Amino acid sequence: MSANCIFCKIVKGAIPSMKLAETELSYAFLDIGPIARGHALIIPKHHSEKMHELPDEYLRDILPIAKKIALASGAENYNILQNNGRIAHQEVPHVHFHYIPKPSASDSEG
Ligand code: 5GP
Ligand code: ZN
Repeated sequence: MSANCIFCKIVKGAIPSMKLAETELSYAFLDIGPIARGHALIIPKHHSEKMHELPDEYLRDILPIAKKIALASGAENYNILQNNGRIAHQEVPHVHFHYIPKPSASDSEG
């Protein structure tokens, strides 16, 4: 845990979040500034700034959660996005994977 890290505070429950899933090693929640409906973040409970600094056990835990969220959301089209470093558009310096559904025309029908 890192004392000033927003995502460490979310893991601890010190900052509220809309939880989607949780395991011993990971936590998934809705993004506060979604670029699409259902935009989620999956983060390790361990504080590492960048993906290559994260222990493998945490890394291995994350994609199955992304898979469950994708299956549960039923989105046919989506992006998994992961930024490392300011120049690569990482704003929060705690590893996170974005799950971003891409609505199709048929998603908005009905
Ligand atoms: P990055 O640009 O670092 O890859 O993405 C950081 C993401 O974290 C952004 O999409 C932003 O909306 C989200 N975010 C930042 N602060 C908070 C917060 O306090 N709560 C939640 N749920 N999302 C946050
Ligand atoms: Zn952190």
